[in-house]
Amino acid sequence: MSKEEQLLKQYFGYDGFRQGQQELIAAINNNRDALGIMPTGAGKSLCYQIPALMKEGITLVISPLISLMKDQVGALNQAGIRSAYLNSSLTPSQYARALDYAKAGVYKIIYVAPERLETQAFLSFALAANIAMVSVDEAHCVSQWGQDFRPGYLKITEFIKKLPRRPVVSAFTATATKTVRGDIIDLLELEDPKVLVTGFDRQNLFFAVEKPKDRMGTLLGYVEEFSGQSGIIYCLTRKTVEEVCFRLNERGFPATRYHAGLGDRERRQNQEDFVYDKKPIMVATNAFGMGIDKSNVRYVIHYNMPKNIESYYQEAGRAGRDGEKARCILLYKGQDVITNQFFIENDNANSEISPEERRVIKDRDRERLKKMTFYCQTNDCLRRYILEYFGEYGENFCGNCSNCLTKFTDTDITATAQTIVNCVKAAGGRYGMALIADTLRGSKNAKVLKFHLDTNAFYGALDTIKGPRLRQIIDHLVYQEYLAITEGDFPLLKLTEKGMELLAGEETVTMQIAQEYKPKTKEAKIKKQSGSVDADFTDAEQELFTELRTLRYTIAQENNIPPYIVFSDKTLKQMCLLKPTTELEMLEVSGVGEVKFQRYGEEFLAVIKEFVNK
Ligand code: ADP
Ligand code: MG
Ligand code: ZN
Repeated sequence: MSKEEQLLKQYFGYDGFRQGQQELIAAINNNRDALGIMPTGAGKSLCYQIPALMKEGITLVISPLISLMKDQVGALNQAGIRSAYLNSSLTPSQYARALDYAKAGVYKIIYVAPERLETQAFLSFALAANIAMVSVDEAHCVSQWGQDFRPGYLKITEFIKKLPRRPVVSAFTATATKTVRGDIIDLLELEDPKVLVTGFDRQNLFFAVEKPKDRMGTLLGYVEEFSGQSGIIYCLTRKTVEEVCFRLNERGFPATRYHAGLGDRERRQNQEDFVYDKKPIMVATNAFGMGIDKSNVRYVIHYNMPKNIESYYQEAGRAGRDGEKARCILLYKGQDVITNQFFIENDNANSEISPEERRVIKDRDRERLKKMTFYCQTNDCLRRYILEYFGEYGENFCGNCSNCLTKFTDTDITATAQTIVNCVKAAGGRYGMALIADTLRGSKNAKVLKFHLDTNAFYGALDTIKGPRLRQIIDHLVYQEYLAITEGDFPLLKLTEKGMELLAGEETVTMQIAQEYKPKTKEAKIKKQSGSVDADFTDAEQELFTELRTLRYTIAQENNIPPYIVFSDKTLKQMCLLKPTTELEMLEVSGVGEVKFQRYGEEFLAVIKEFVNK
């Protein structure tokens, strides 16, 4: 067993490295700079934590969020690795004490907010200390092109240059785009770094898009179905967060909420309630999540479509960090497109950019929104769509997304398509999608009458097709580029060249129409198709699992740490399957390291023994 593997087992209780970890660790151990780009949950932290243990001297980890530091430091200390964090959540005397300990060489790993690097007290410590490595977590924060730009990150290189000896610099992020990647290397001045990008696929995640008529009803149904599990529900606006959270609480679900409109204290409290499983359901805007390492989130439901695939994959990716199965469900409505368009057109927050730059950014955002909308329209494999978006090759059929599990039949819709395109043409391309749909269905609503669309030659021509289906067909025609939607505040439906050709009568248009769509039956199919390695629990094992979870919760409460830091869901699950009754057997369980065993092993053994002897 290599030294690295030995440390992995001893401190973290894991038997093997995951994809990419070993290469990065090896590079860092050879004093080479490194950049690791791996999806959320891939295990980036270990890539700097293990080298930190092996190096003489201190590792500084620069991290953007207080919550992130607190959790990581908590987890490290639990595993028996002395570490601390330095940020604005400490009182001056706590801060001074932590620095004193740091000076005395108590900590192997110190987490620090980028803004601290400039302060005199910290600097005088750093100049005197032996800093072996600087690791930059969430490194995309250095780039203005990323989503979470933090000006403080630009000071990191300055800080490093002040040190008497240049430490190894390693950087980690889950953001893949080329621009951001280049920015990280340039702005952090990485020297000939080992760059490692692992696949972005998260096989344990199930992806689904649904277009429910009654969104709230569908959501409540899911939360009910998943009750007892931890989940995040993302909404586009604060108002929706309030409403959804209220409805969940009204039904007795343990939900809390998070958005930028709440005060600092309340946000912190709510986040903590969620992380500690006191309220395992979080309803939030996209303000929530960065730095949330909670590993047992079993589902992420998007109550609205987010603004782009980057955001979607990042938010959805907060499910299943422990590698166990988790679900990512997006509930789509056409209104979401309009809301997002509104956000784009009205986002003038950054006043430092020129009008030209602003225009470029808006164009880019509109393009991204379009790709996100297509994700909700496509009948192809959703996983493949996401992977291709990030420039990776995906297979046609993953067997673990709602499209792969839905039966579609190819339907010839040429005649309908021609009618729709004709109607748009006759209307001169001057109206939006909703109004065209109303016209085709022969509606007498005020707008139709006001614009005299009831005199359009195709008025009422498709009155046998139901509204949602008609909109679906129009969406499809846009997706297939027979029609286009203009950009701006009032998106209009226009004819394209391809649409003109369609009217010339040469082409056939087909569309895959879902024949069966029963989300409830998916569950059984997923298990079969994904060839899961976890044997299913027997009823008795399920009971043991519940008992172990209860014990975990009690221990977490006593120690004031989040339950998943005691042991992850995955670890508890393994205990249920292996039923260890001795220390040696317990140490075999993935996630049980030596220090963790000393702390909690006996208590868990006791519950398992009692269960086995029953
Ligand atoms: P990231 O920062 O890449 O999103 P983390 O470092 O937070 O991911 O790790 C996610 C989870 O995976 C953690 O619970 C961590 O303990 C676990 N993990 C990391 N490496 C391994 C490994 N080699 N074997 C098993 N679990 C691992
Ligand atoms: Mg991380
Ligand atoms: Zn699929």
